[in-house]
Amino acid sequence: MIKRRQNPRIPDDEMFAIRAYIEAHEGENEIDEDLLKVHHDESGNFGKYTREEFFDAIKEFRGDLAPGVILSGIMVELALERLEKGTDLLAMAEYSVDIPDAIQLLTKCTSGNGKLIIHETGKYALTLFDRKTGKGIRSFVDSKNLEKFPLLNKWIMHEARISRDEMPDLIDSIISDYDSIISVMKVVVSEDIYEDIGEEDSFIMCPLCFEPMAAKYGDKCAFCKGVSPFESVG
Ligand SMILES: [Zn+2]
Repeated sequence: MIKRRQNPRIPDDEMFAIRAYIEAHEGENEIDEDLLKVHHDESGNFGKYTREEFFDAIKEFRGDLAPGVILSGIMVELALERLEKGTDLLAMAEYSVDIPDAIQLLTKCTSGNGKLIIHETGKYALTLFDRKTGKGIRSFVDSKNLEKFPLLNKWIMHEARISRDEMPDLIDSIISDYDSIISVMKVVVSEDIYEDIGEEDSFIMCPLCFEPMAAKYGDKCAFCKGVSPFESVG
């Protein structure tokens, strides 16, 4: 069993996608204390990438070295290190900014293959979990030490824009101090979040414009219903 984190900042009613993995195991002797000690690979590698290669990959993928993708990358690694080998991996991002990019760079979970679920709670958190059981590891920003790191605090809480001059210090602090601001917890992800993954959509031809479309969106397309996000200009 895992020791339950006493974390008043995460009220139960906010944990609608996740319930803590606290039952089904018994005996204090089985507590794996090391599991909750955040410790990223000392080599500084990110999966198949060295740190420098990962930074290059971020720039290549999205055009800028976003500190949020660096932090998310560490969060991905912290979760991966704690998952059993052979896990049929799914990923859930709780915020659509930055986190999905790190997941897609470091795992085979992508928006396109459906294995990356973006379930917005607005929190800087991600969960990697086993499709067969829903069991996984959630990495999240833990505020208990955040104020000890003023630059990280300013950035994470969006108190002010990070200047160009501050950026190297911010990245350095992410790399050096992440273990003070990231925590991990065991979770079981609710099945309704991921049960439809991999199911093939059935398709129809829109009867008005004759473009193929997934049938689950209605008997004619959004454009022909007049609710399209664009208008034709010739
Ligand atoms: Zn149509």
